[in-house]
Amino acid sequence: MKRVSFFMKTIRAFSTVRKSAWLVTLAVAVGGQFYPPLGLLVPLIMISLMGMSLFKGRYWCGNFCPHGSFFDFLLLPLSRNQKIPGLLASKITVVLFFVFFMFNLTRRFVAAFQNIEQVSLVDSVGTIFSTTYLMVLIAGGLLAVIISPRTWCQFCPMGSIQTLLYKLGKALGLTAGRDKKVTVNHQWLCHSCGKCARVCPMQLAPYREFTVSNNQFNDERCIRCLTCINNCPLRILSLADAAEAGTLIKETDLEGFQESDNYRGEIIRVKELKKNIREFTINLLDSKSMKLAPGQFILVEVDEKRGLYRAYSISSAGKEGTEIGITVKRLENGYGSNLLFEKFNEGALLKMKGPMGKELLIESKRDKLLFVANGIGITPFAYATKYLLEDNNSSKFAGEITLLYGVRHEEELIYDDLFSGLTIKHPNLHYYKALSRADSSSTKRGYVTDILKELEIDPFTTVYICGTKEMANRAMKILSEKGIPRKSVHYESITT
Ligand SMILES: Cc1cc2nc3c(=O)[nH]c(=O)nc-3n(C[C@H](O)[C@H](O)[C@H](O)COP(=O)(O)OP(=O)(O)OC[C@H]3O[C@@H](n4cnc5c(N)ncnc54)[C@H](O)[C@@H]3O)c2cc1C
Ligand code: SF4
Ligand code: SF4
Repeated sequence: MKRVSFFMKTIRAFSTVRKSAWLVTLAVAVGGQFYPPLGLLVPLIMISLMGMSLFKGRYWCGNFCPHGSFFDFLLLPLSRNQKIPGLLASKITVVLFFVFFMFNLTRRFVAAFQNIEQVSLVDSVGTIFSTTYLMVLIAGGLLAVIISPRTWCQFCPMGSIQTLLYKLGKALGLTAGRDKKVTVNHQWLCHSCGKCARVCPMQLAPYREFTVSNNQFNDERCIRCLTCINNCPLRILSLADAAEAGTLIKETDLEGFQESDNYRGEIIRVKELKKNIREFTINLLDSKSMKLAPGQFILVEVDEKRGLYRAYSISSAGKEGTEIGITVKRLENGYGSNLLFEKFNEGALLKMKGPMGKELLIESKRDKLLFVANGIGITPFAYATKYLLEDNNSSKFAGEITLLYGVRHEEELIYDDLFSGLTIKHPNLHYYKALSRADSSSTKRGYVTDILKELEIDPFTTVYICGTKEMANRAMKILSEKGIPRKSVHYESITT
């Protein structure tokens, strides 16, 4: 399988200004060559960005900059979207380019004043600015396509000016209450999935640098473009000032995360369940055990250099809590699942965090449980069903469990033997499967939600759904039509 790129393309223009500001770039850079006074828009832009940076850092770059709009909106689809070489983002490049740029600009201004009798000042100053704009359009545009859209922004002199003024603003106390930074509700909730870094135009890594004191990302290169916030799969990021960040920490619900700890483990078994689906059995090291509850998940480190983790539901567990199983589906363009399949063989050591999660924590005191899963969303229910019916020594589950499981083709079904076997031994387990695409006389054809529609459901049933968002939304609608209260329906998304 080909190497999966770390950086991802995604929508980066979230406002009309960001979708259309590139028109200003074209008007000034190209139009200015024919009508030089258009170049005089540039000093206005410079004054605006400098003023704003005193209060909000590089907010301008991410929200108003016409070149930024050109790079992010027009050129992103054409870009190779590669890693920006460290040299281009280094302090030495930033300083040298700033000096070169300012020297060049000053030299051209001096020449314009010396030429004042031949060319009007408006025309010559306009030409200086529009030519500079054109130069940035061409150089920045080429870098955007060949490397990454915001390569130019790493050493852009206007960016450097904003950073300097931002430092001044902070020293003068102008940023207080105005400087909104990327903030995580609470670091415990972050899965370290790295998506915020994978989509960041500036190639920053917020998830690795949230401050311990107030969960904020302080990197001065951050252009507050919202891309990470809009792409975090857990929706735990926002732009907040220091006071708002403090409130978020206090008010965030941490249920399901308090017991989490760091673990090391060794993979003792890798079982190929189906094509591209593997079960990894992990033995915990350092004489530690995990206090697990069915429905929870762990985070597994898949890329040590980047500190990148992936969440996997617990699909099996030894009674002592020292052996746990996760079941992973390899996604075609999945960065982490491919690393797991390539590098994590029997004997490999890995780092983990957990157990975590509250959405699918099964309330075993309820006497009617309904599990609805599609695709790889079945994994938490493999553990939960076995645990409730057989492994829970303190009290075997005596109520009714109904399990609905949908996949596309028969050969994608996993744990089918386990569920069928449990059904024979435990008449209180009712197992239905749906194949949406395959021909099979013995199995119900259609979606799992089709079975749900036909099912008679007691209004006191507690429902747990795991799988794709599309399925979950359909299922919740059906459940609501059947009069199941929303508070009795629990859902965990496993899509990123
Ligand atoms: C609580 C929880 C429990 C979970 N349990 C399980 C489980 O038991 N088993 C399991 O297999 N998974 C589970 N997941 C999902 C798992 O955490 C990962 O998200 C999954 O393995 C995919 O990770 P990845 O790094 O391979 O994919 P990613 O690289 O994160 O990709 C995710 C999606 O984006 C697409 N994509 C990737 N790169 C690009 C690109 N450059 N451009 C455009 N699109 C791209 C991929 O095709 C894929 O569809 C769970 C998730 C959560 C939140
Ligand atoms: S995108 Fe992933 S790593 Fe970044 S904050 Fe959200 S959960 Fe954490
Ligand atoms: S960290 Fe987030 S807000 Fe800052 S530049 Fe990157 S994507 Fe934009």
